[in-house]
Amino acid sequence: MPIYEYQCRACGNQFEYLVLPSTPDAACPSCQSRELEQLLSLFGTTTDHAQRSFRNDMSKNRKEFQGDRAQTEQRIRNED
Ligand SMILES: [Zn+2]
Repeated sequence: MPIYEYQCRACGNQFEYLVLPSTPDAACPSCQSRELEQLLSLFGTTTDHAQRSFRNDMSKNRKEFQGDRAQTEQRIRNED
């Protein structure tokens, strides 16, 4: 059974989500956002090579995500 790991773009929460044909699209359990970043699959069907390039993409995306998040946190602080 494929279990996917996601990080919520809205609140940064990381969670694992078991994807079955009957389950709806993943949503963040803490804020119900569907703006999710898919992290490394624990039981992927991809080849090693594909996983490596996927991982490279992820680390790139994660850097961008952290930049976004810092900006968001700054915006929230300014609103306070
Ligand atoms: Zn969330």
